[in-house]
Amino acid sequence: MQKTLLLIKPNACKHNLIGRIIDMVERNGFVVVDLKLFTMTKDIANEFYEMHQLRDFFSKLIEFMTSGKTVAVILEKDNAIADLRLLVGNTNPSEANPGTIRYLYGESTTINAVHASDSEENALREIDIIFNKQ
Ligand code: ADP
Repeated sequence: MQKTLLLIKPNACKHNLIGRIIDMVERNGFVVVDLKLFTMTKDIANEFYEMHQLRDFFSKLIEFMTSGKTVAVILEKDNAIADLRLLVGNTNPSEANPGTIRYLYGESTTINAVHASDSEENALREIDIIFNKQ
């Protein structure tokens, strides 16, 4: 069994999509291990996305991630990290495969509804930031 972190980003929370997104992951075999509803602080957003701090979209990303409620969900399943990335789809919703979460609920490359950890190391790092520091 592997753990990964799903974030339901502020646009999806604002549009009442929390239940639909959790339903999708549960129907795809993921088990919810822990869950938290919160508004991300600027400090936590900066730490969470520190690898992108020199990118031109960074300030837009931090502004979006601190703009409203986020739901963090720790999910467990065999091959959870790769399988969740597949279910989430491309960073840019207009390039995401039909049926993926970002295809259905993403609004733009920044406002793309969800986050999913991309490696075991990052899953551990992100779970620690959100569940132990925020
Ligand atoms: P992913 O979330 O698909 O793993 P990244 O780790 O590359 O993608 O980027 C983190 C987040 O930063 C994305 O989910 C998105 O919200 C935002 N982002 C990434 N690339 C861009 C971009 N080129 N323009 C605007 N926002 C971006």
